Amino acid sequence: MRLIAAMIILAMVPLGAFGGRSITVDPAYPYYKDRSVESVVEEIKANGYDEVRLCCVNESGIDGKLVKAFADAGVRVWMLTFTNGVYSRVDLPKGWEAWRMKLRKKPDPAGFTMLCPNNRDYRAWKKQQVTAALQKYPFYGIDLAEPQMPAYPGPESEYYGCFCDACLAEFKRLYPDAPCFPDFDDPKSPHYWKTDKELYEKWVGFRVASVVNWLDDLVNGEGGIREKCPGVKVATWSLGLDVPDQLAKLREWQALDAAAIVRRVKPDVHVIQTDWPDWIKDNLKPDYPSAYKPVFDSVRQAAPSIPILLQTDIGSKPNMRRDNQWIKAVEAEAKKLGYAGVFHYEYHLGDYIYSEPPAVLASSFQSDTIKLVFNKRLDPAQACNVSNYSLSSGRVDFARVDGNIVYLSVSGVGRGSVLTISGLSDDPSRRLYHDKPACVMPEPVEIALE
Ligand SMILES: [Zn+2]
Repeated sequence: MRLIAAMIILAMVPLGAFGGRSITVDPAYPYYKDRSVESVVEEIKANGYDEVRLCCVNESGIDGKLVKAFADAGVRVWMLTFTNGVYSRVDLPKGWEAWRMKLRKKPDPAGFTMLCPNNRDYRAWKKQQVTAALQKYPFYGIDLAEPQMPAYPGPESEYYGCFCDACLAEFKRLYPDAPCFPDFDDPKSPHYWKTDKELYEKWVGFRVASVVNWLDDLVNGEGGIREKCPGVKVATWSLGLDVPDQLAKLREWQALDAAAIVRRVKPDVHVIQTDWPDWIKDNLKPDYPSAYKPVFDSVRQAAPSIPILLQTDIGSKPNMRRDNQWIKAVEAEAKKLGYAGVFHYEYHLGDYIYSEPPAVLASSFQSDTIKLVFNKRLDPAQACNVSNYSLSSGRVDFARVDGNIVYLSVSGVGRGSVLTISGLSDDPSRRLYHDKPACVMPEPVEIALE
């Protein structure tokens, strides 16, 4: 095939200029539906990312074609799986109800089923699910996300737990002299958590040990990730939370001791995830990772050479959608603090999806087809309308859109011809929130076809 034109790179974002950038992609969102996996990959790459963490809410639903398309394009793909429960129950086997965490006053938060890490059957099942998926698809690594026990802010939370039989048995195994769970309801009880401090401290230690033991078993145990999938990188997760006495509070409230996790599990990477009381702040400053210094330092001390990543949220709520400027600022700040990188949840939740007009990031001209790679997904009706394109010589016969990519079938086009694009808009129907109008190209854009 004759290559007439080289790739033209437009706009302010040179491709490949941001080496080592990572982003979370959750393919369950409508933004990623009804388009080719290649267009998803091209959009992520064109926006300067060379690594993705793919949310895998159930192993049977993993899109193998998407994983392969990323891997083929040189984008490292991490399988992001949740370790303290499931968003989707479709893969759970008969009898799974016995694995549920028993929480203090309420059932699980809506949409998530918490499963207990002390339940041996749950552990065996999860280990099998994860290793089978890693063997089946070309993942570069695995993110063992959210191993914590519920919940912020500790025993006052209605979701605090777990009080299941497996936890009681394990608590008694670790502390044979412990008479029972601490009492969290009756101040007159001899085992009330605020007065029987010895029992409560054992309980906190037991909870932390539960998380560490679970992750160690999943990674290093019999039939675990290291044994079954030795080439796959492992990332353990814990939380950062901007509160006084952060390390103690994370241990007490969420059973997390990052140093203990990395010391025992020996992951390849450790991730400090932004806890929800921080990421929901609408005015969160991009220098906020400095507040996680106690956690960062504890990991650094336990494992001096391990890469530490920061996970942040860029738009799960409408009040806290972060723009590209904020994203670059938090990445720069994290780098300054010694982090190996940042990854954001989730690509299409960022403010740019609500505020930035379509822009051509790359184009190519081969045979009788012009390929235009845009920064975001386009409104298909307008992008397919040939009247939105004109050529200084030759004509546009047909336009086809695939997510963020437009293919123009052209004829009579020679070297030096100029393509003018105008009036395209993005596709607001694919956003999580529908509170803002479509973003329209403010003025025509000209592309010289060389
Ligand atoms: Zn339990």
